[in-house]
Amino acid sequence: MRVRAKAAAFLALALSSLAIADISNAAAALCAAYPGKFRFDAAANEIVWPDNTRMPFGSPRPELAFEDRLAIATLYDQMSIPYPREWPQSPPSADCDPGRMRCDAFLKKMYGDTAAEVERNLARVSWPPAGAGKTVRFTTINSANKSLEKVGEAIAKLNPEVRDYVSRPNGTFNWRPIAGTDRLSPHSYGIAIDFDIQHLLNQYWRWAKDKGATASNYPAEILEDTALRQIVEIFEQNGFIWGGKWHHYDLMHFEFRPELLNTKDALKTE
Ligand SMILES: [Zn+2]
Repeated sequence: MRVRAKAAAFLALALSSLAIADISNAAAALCAAYPGKFRFDAAANEIVWPDNTRMPFGSPRPELAFEDRLAIATLYDQMSIPYPREWPQSPPSADCDPGRMRCDAFLKKMYGDTAAEVERNLARVSWPPAGAGKTVRFTTINSANKSLEKVGEAIAKLNPEVRDYVSRPNGTFNWRPIAGTDRLSPHSYGIAIDFDIQHLLNQYWRWAKDKGATASNYPAEILEDTALRQIVEIFEQNGFIWGGKWHHYDLMHFEFRPELLNTKDALKTE
């Protein structure tokens, strides 16, 4: 009995130090993606903003189901699913949704607590793939507007078939809940952009679901699409994730989330 108790205690200790290493790596990656915006207080397991606002970072919660964590995501949850930089060879596995976990308190603190507050930080960004003089609104916080501008300039240099994918921007800022939920969409913060990609069917898992399909009806044929791949890679090089790498896919959706793209680099410097 004593041996077993000791073994159990050892296991608990090993698990908790693993969790702490996991938390500090995740926190380091988050801080590195938003330099100077906040710091991590490891002893308190909180991030601290310059005005002394403190936010719990969170820790693994294996007891909660995926959908429950999604509904009340902590910063730890937000960092917990690695975003794959490589082009997928097959549809994302169940609950592989890197970026769908969002800590609302964090995003509100960063980009604005109300529609009016977010709007104060929006700027017009030229979007040359849609034609000369075309603009979209995007947040200036974290220079996300500059990043989007770089994406547009790079894609505008590609051939017309590739450019055409993103020639019809279909919404950036929009203070609204995510369809079917009461959580705010990332579009509320001015950090997301959608496109009308006409030839991609079933662009959004929820639409497919409404027609009787499931998230598993991922349109795998798009993974053969080299033009789309070029576009996604340019977005990723500039701090954006793509909703096509989610099991609950959203093929038209790109979102400025540098913390999910710099993870490996941030960890390398440890
Ligand atoms: Zn979207």
